[in-house]
Amino acid sequence: MQRLRLNNNREIDILGLGTYQMRKEEVENAVNAAMKNGYRLYDTAQVYRNEGEVASGIRKTGIKREDVFITTKISTANQGYSAAKESLRESMKVMDEEYLDLVLIHWPGAEKVELDDPKNKELRHGTYEALIELQKEGVVKNIGVSNFMISHLRDLFEAFHERPQVNQIELSPICYPKEVVEFCQENGVVVQSYSTLGRGKLLSEEWAEKYPVLKRMKQKGDISAQILKWAMLKECAVIPKSKTPERIEQNFKALTAEISEEDVEGLDDFPVQERTCWDPNKIL
Ligand code: NAP
Repeated sequence: MQRLRLNNNREIDILGLGTYQMRKEEVENAVNAAMKNGYRLYDTAQVYRNEGEVASGIRKTGIKREDVFITTKISTANQGYSAAKESLRESMKVMDEEYLDLVLIHWPGAEKVELDDPKNKELRHGTYEALIELQKEGVVKNIGVSNFMISHLRDLFEAFHERPQVNQIELSPICYPKEVVEFCQENGVVVQSYSTLGRGKLLSEEWAEKYPVLKRMKQKGDISAQILKWAMLKECAVIPKSKTPERIEQNFKALTAEISEEDVEGLDDFPVQERTCWDPNKIL
């Protein structure tokens, strides 16, 4: 497994398994297939409602806890110092874990707060303060943010001495915020890419017919591995989601996949730019 170095000198696997929209009953099979292939990093979140199944699925494989990396995320409903702390304790109870490897603030905004309300900033800073304390206690090994754009990161850097280890953002050929990646990397924050496969869109026959770069890549072999490799070449970690054992195996091949320079350029300048998730840019 290739790893990226974090700003606290720990490491993170460059490839892991995403679990968004993985139903409770699908998790065990997917985690088991992933472990067999060599995945050791698993990404869940309070809002995915599968934290417990992810943790128990991992335990059932018999792989030692210290060899596995588990991420969860504090939901928008639990923003703010006290709610974040309480909710994380609850997550750990549900997961039956004594520590977590990475906890992220899922989104810069808070539930039921208008996009332009300064309360968003106050609440997410409260959440971050809670994460710093939990990290000092050793309950959380690494802390980070998700969907933070440059303005949110600047605010955070001004308010806190402690930098987040990770920023998990939407990053794929159809959503490539190059300036955010550069800003994170200049400031020692590892970027973890989500929806790297455009939720599967980039792998479809329909898109291969429309976009020559995708057609060309498909003819060369596993296109999913090549697209993941595209992100990894930018020193970004990836967490492709699949509940399907064959696809989990295909995606793992990203570690050994090759992608031509022409195809890298084709994906860098992909003609479609559209988010699969909400746009965090407007959140104050
Ligand atoms: P993704 O990984 O780009 O795509 C997942 C979709 O692609 C699923 O429908 C999957 O189908 C399909 N797929 C995966 N590998 C495939 C392959 N080799 N061939 C064909 N189809 C394939 O999208 P994502 O789930 O949005 O993102 C990945 C992870 O990032 C999430 O699961 C989650 O852990 C995290 N995430 C975080 C945030 C955030 O706000 N922080 C937002 C979104 C996602 P099957 O499962 O049916 O096989």
